[in-house]
Amino acid sequence: MAPKFAIRTFGCQMNEHDSERLAGLLLAQGMEPTDDLGEVDVLVFNTCCIRENADNRLYGELGRLKELTERRPGLKIAVGGCQAQKDRHLIRERAPHVDVVFGTHNLAHAPDLLARSELEGPITEILDGPDPDGPPAHLAAPLRELPYSAWITIQTGCDNSCAFCIVPSVRGREVSRPLEAIVAEVEALARRGVVEVTLLGQNVNSYGRDLTRRSPRFAQLLRAVGGVEGIDRVRFTSPHPKDLRPETMAAMAETPAVCEQLHLPLQSGSDRVLAAMRRGYSAQRYLERLSAVRRAVPDLAVSTDIIVGFPGESDEDFERTLDVAAEAQYDSAYTFMFSPRPGTRAADRCEDFVPDDVVAERFERLRVVVERSALAKHEARVGRVERVLVEGPSRKDPAMLTGRTRQGKLAHFSWRIGSAPFAPGALVDVTITGAAPHHLRAEPIEMISPPRHRSRIPVAIR
Ligand code: SF4
Repeated sequence: MAPKFAIRTFGCQMNEHDSERLAGLLLAQGMEPTDDLGEVDVLVFNTCCIRENADNRLYGELGRLKELTERRPGLKIAVGGCQAQKDRHLIRERAPHVDVVFGTHNLAHAPDLLARSELEGPITEILDGPDPDGPPAHLAAPLRELPYSAWITIQTGCDNSCAFCIVPSVRGREVSRPLEAIVAEVEALARRGVVEVTLLGQNVNSYGRDLTRRSPRFAQLLRAVGGVEGIDRVRFTSPHPKDLRPETMAAMAETPAVCEQLHLPLQSGSDRVLAAMRRGYSAQRYLERLSAVRRAVPDLAVSTDIIVGFPGESDEDFERTLDVAAEAQYDSAYTFMFSPRPGTRAADRCEDFVPDDVVAERFERLRVVVERSALAKHEARVGRVERVLVEGPSRKDPAMLTGRTRQGKLAHFSWRIGSAPFAPGALVDVTITGAAPHHLRAEPIEMISPPRHRSRIPVAIR
């Protein structure tokens, strides 16, 4: 019987996609995925260190596994990703029962390290930059979670230095994949029936700057990927507001497959706080860029990230954030209470920390402002016909299906018209019948296309 593996993923879409690659690598070794901890032979934690609660969750889960490893000595545990890169020694100290610790630059070595640990005992291997002799992780053929929608890494690392962010120190400098390789991957996916791709990078706007040593090539990439036959929807995350250029807005507007959706992180509405965060734009500049992209792309849905309680944030600073959030009229926002990440500039400003109760109160006030604009945006869609890509049963109400509109909005609707139920991956036209701050309700009108995908077998990448 083939040995079984499971992967626990913490953090962002970038990490989710790294886990798909890890799964593809383990599958290529003859292993099989499982969700059952009782039968698992290799358990991999792909970690994130952007938020503090991810750290706590990891150590909690590792602690609970100690007893299981004593009962089942054959069980192998590996910890990789950002937190492993940052806390290599701490993981060993706090969880000596972990067999392998690997970093962000040697994900492709994970199967080899697991095999070596059988003979050599516990191994820690962290590289401080891309391995010049090893296979780049992005060449590993991923075992994709969804057969109709795929994440595509276009770039790793980040050349910015935002004061709250640990990414540059754990993921390194920006490295872009060649445009031709990305397009070839998308073409291969389209041949297998994938209809939606999401381009991933820490700062997608600067994609290609390292390849050309001049200007970025993101607009060119958007047009090329949007032109691949069979790809109906192209999304991307995340662009940096300071680098959102007119040619990118033009490519979004002129490429029909590029969805009317933009995630544009604000972080703060106060120029004083933005400068302390080293974000490289003012609130006014941010709002000007937002107006420009909305003029270029009508019906654009905009989401954002906002940090509440950055060290030194005064009442006036926060009021400014509320003003900008109200003016920006977001469709949704990921709002975070500031938590210091060791190794970042912001963590050293502990004398300026905002008290927890003040942060909690500001967080609640911001939530109200964002939900008000989100609800208004959603109510304005009631009565319209929209096309959704079917995802599957609703988690809250399995009697309903969920799907995403082109604007990335979650819609709940019934399973069928007549006798034929809709399958995940189908494109269906629906009428929007109701609105809430975080979702839409809809009635199906017509199936536009059944699912085109074949299977979730890894697609080899050239
Ligand atoms: S742009 Fe800033 S927040 Fe985004 S990954 Fe780079 S350093 Fe972090």
